[in-house]
Amino acid sequence: MMRFLCLLVVLACSVAQETPKPEKVALRQEIADLKVKAFELQQKIELLENQLKDVEEAEANRPVVSPALKTVAKARCAGHTKDGKRCTRNAEAGSRFCWQHKGHR
Ligand SMILES: [Zn+2]
Repeated sequence: MMRFLCLLVVLACSVAQETPKPEKVALRQEIADLKVKAFELQQKIELLENQLKDVEEAEANRPVVSPALKTVAKARCAGHTKDGKRCTRNAEAGSRFCWQHKGHR
């Protein structure tokens, strides 16, 4: 029995030494291919990350002008002061007049 086992092991060893080559080559080839793909993907990821960073930086640098701020900055009071001059106050949001002139337009 022991002798049979030994023979089996020897046989298995000799088989293992003779046959693995095509499979081993194929596996190595697959690993190499995957490594190339992984490298390419890594490069693509870095590229996309850089693009995202650029977009985010451009967004951060853009002056923030909200619609509400725009109208407030533009809208000047349409009223006039006692001496007939144009009121220099900013109109209230949603109104053409400042707090002082909105009562008597
Ligand atoms: Zn006014």
